[in-house]
Order: sequence, then C-alpha cells, then structure tokens
Amino acid sequence: MTIRTRFAPSPTGYMHVGNVRAALFPWLLARQQGGDFILRIEDTDQARYVEGATDLVLETLDWLGLDWNEGPQKGGKYGPYFQTERRDIYKKWAEKLIDKGLAYADPYTAEQVQGFREEARALKKPFLYRNHRPESPPAWDGSQPLRLKVVEPKRYTWNDPVMGELSAGEEVLDDFILIKADGLPTYNFAHIVDDFEMGVTHVIRGLEYISSIPRYLSLYEALEIEPPVLACLPHIMAPDGKKKLGKRDGAKSVTDYRTDGILPEAMLNFLASMGWNDGTEQEIFSRDELIEKFRLERVQRSGARFDEQRLLWLNGQWIRKLSLDDLYTRVEKYWPETAHAANDASRRAILSLVQDRLKTLAELPLLTSYFFSEPTPDWAMIDSNKQLKKLSRNEHVELLSAAHAAIQHSEFSTEALQATLNQLLESTGQKPGILFSLIRFALTWAPFSPGLPETMATLGRERVLSRIQLAIDAA
Ligand code: GLU
Repeated sequence: MTIRTRFAPSPTGYMHVGNVRAALFPWLLARQQGGDFILRIEDTDQARYVEGATDLVLETLDWLGLDWNEGPQKGGKYGPYFQTERRDIYKKWAEKLIDKGLAYADPYTAEQVQGFREEARALKKPFLYRNHRPESPPAWDGSQPLRLKVVEPKRYTWNDPVMGELSAGEEVLDDFILIKADGLPTYNFAHIVDDFEMGVTHVIRGLEYISSIPRYLSLYEALEIEPPVLACLPHIMAPDGKKKLGKRDGAKSVTDYRTDGILPEAMLNFLASMGWNDGTEQEIFSRDELIEKFRLERVQRSGARFDEQRLLWLNGQWIRKLSLDDLYTRVEKYWPETAHAANDASRRAILSLVQDRLKTLAELPLLTSYFFSEPTPDWAMIDSNKQLKKLSRNEHVELLSAAHAAIQHSEFSTEALQATLNQLLESTGQKPGILFSLIRFALTWAPFSPGLPETMATLGRERVLSRIQLAIDAA
C-alpha cells in the first residue's frame, strides 16, 4: 500500500506554528514511507475566506521545503485540489445519501433552530438536532441545508495511533449539516469525501477535531467508506503551559520568523520537537534525520509547550553549522546599510567573527555595525552594566587610559593583542569581567560582540585607539 497523507488548510489567514506542524507530520510520514503528500485547499467557508491566504500557505511550505506531490501548482489525477471547484463531486455523494434515505433537507429557519437550542439549554440538556428531526422533510432543492440522518445512533471505538484506543457513544452523534444553504459543503462532509476520493490513507490533524470523530465515523458508515487512519496531534500550548497557544501569546505568522532571520532548518527542527522526540536526548535533527526517525506512534499525547527561546537557541545552533559561504549568501539582505561600502573579503571576515554569536540573521546589524561605522559613545550602557557600575567614572577613565597606553605599542594580531590584554589585567589588578567589558563597550557600544582581541584586530590600531580616546573624552 502506498501511503498517502495530506495537508488541508483553510485559507483564512496566516499560518502559525500549529498550522505548519499539521503539515510537517503528515509530510514526514509520506516522505519516510515513499508515499505521496497531497495539498488540498479547503476554501468552502466563504465568510472566513481571506484573499492571499492560499499564496501564503504555498510560500510557507516552499520556504520549509515541504513539497507536495499533488495540489495547487502541481495538479494531479485526483484534482481539482480546491474544494470550491469540487461541488459536483459533493453533490454526487449527497444524492447517494438522499437516495438511501440517509440525508434530508432541513426545513427550519435559523431562528427556529436557535429556538430548539435555547429550549435544550433551559432544560439543561445538550442540544441534539435529531430530537427535532422533521417527520416529512421537503424534497431537497439546494436552497435548504442538507443534513445527515443518523438512523442508528451508537457507540464507536477507534484506534488513534497517537491518542490510543478511543470510544464515544451516541450522545455525541447528531444530524449534522452536509451541504449549507449557500450550496457549499461543510468541512465535516467535504473532507471525508475528498480524503476518500483522493485515496488518503492517513489523516493527521489537530486535536480540536477529536471530539467530532464519532460523527465522522457515522458519516463514513452512511457513505459505506472504510475510514483511513485517523490521528490527532497534541495541542501546542502557550508558554505558560496552561492554555492552547493563541495569536495573543505570540503565535505569529511563520513567514514572520523568516523575516526575523530564522533558518528553515531551525524552524523544521523546532516544529518537529513540539510533540515528538525520538526517545533519546538528541535535540538537533536535520530534515533527513527527521524523515528517517519520525514515528507517529512516538508523538506525545499531552500538550507541547511553545517556547520561543528554544527556537532562538536552535537557530543559533543551525547558524553555527552552516559553512561560511552558505551563511554569507543567506545574510545578504541583513547587512547594515553601512556595510555595503566595505568589500566582500572584509564582510566575510566580519561574518566569520560573529557567526558563533548570531541567534538570528536579523541580529547581524547589532553585532556588526560598529565594524562599518563609528559608534556613538553611550556611557549609560556602562552605568547600567551590573559589573561596571560598581566603579566610579574616574576609575573607568583610568582603566581606559591604561588600556590606550598599553595597546598603542601592541602588534595588532589576535595573539599579540591577547598577550597585551593579559598583561594589562595584571598591571591593573582588575578582573576580566570588568576590564574587558569596559574596553569592549568603548570599542563597540553594543550589548555584545565577538572576542575582544579578534574585534580589536579586525578594527585595526587606528580605530581602536581613536575609539578609546573618544570614550574617554565623552566620559
Ligand atoms: N481545513 C481544516 C483546517 O484548516 C483542515 C483540518 C484537517 O486537516 O482535516 O483546520
């Protein structure tokens, strides 16, 4: 059997980490098993449709390298892959159900149904439409909603490879809407028809669908379709671990992370780790390793916490793993304005200095602009530094003057500068945490920078001396 999985986003806005993880896991399974990964756009909810959202889906998947075998831009023999273009298919299946007496037109107005709902609430009973099922519904002319008729409500048991053996009874089954009054199918109906027509073997989606699965099973039965494997992924939780991650907790668009200089390798690694591990301590996984090691059965049941600090950490790890050439190509857009006057060779040299410290590509200006232009002394940075604020301004100035004098005669290689700085530590009797931080500020006025001797060697004697002097003058 060829495994066929799918990602079926609704074009209702941007893609956050939860949406993209729901693409990654089925993609991994398909790639691992030599199967197919289908992309289907579920655009039947006109009220929630957002212009441009489909393009954003394609762009996000492209960025992460989650390629699809069938779907938009690719086609495929089970198309079309936009649900709004598949109305005839849904109609065909709906008519089958009507013919079997398993679907009927809903004759009520929205107000009447609301009335039933309120009645149930007043009686403190759950609302079930089937308790109000009309005795002789009119023929369906397409202008009324079409509902499934649950003839024999019963208990269903099914096996979710992630969540385990599950079971739910008739109390959750109801005559849900298959086709709305606007002629478009509901998600509940359309996805089942499509998954079947497209030969999907494994449906992998968010946990928000789990409570509807008994209803889906009743529909599979009515349609006489064998259900595929039905798996639900654990929720992604807000950083506090207490509630589902929402837009307000920082669930931003995954493409915004790209703008911020997150590498696709790091994002994939991060997404995979939200709810899955391989049972070892390993944290860094390449795309190929993920494909090899991913197991649906190893996806955890409990919620996975969203931790942006971890994403930054992973990104730093991935930046370090890149060759300088590769990194140089990827940072092209991120250089500070002033870097464009410098030549390739010096930009590369500077990049190699900061490679180990970058957590995102967008940090490049913060870490490098002082190599390309003269920073403005900002003594407030020193005054708010935990170590340095213990010294008086006079002591600061004395130390900088001593540094100026010592450095003047140093050779400007990294090794020689390291030796000079070590001597300076001895002669001043200071701790490196104080002396070196102070010099670092005087040279960069940046919150962090590469090693001091390397920074000095790259800046060169003239700039080092003039910046220390400028710092002293501004004290
Ligand atoms: N269109 C649904 C969504 O975007 C897809 C759920 C599913 O994967 O079946 O949430």
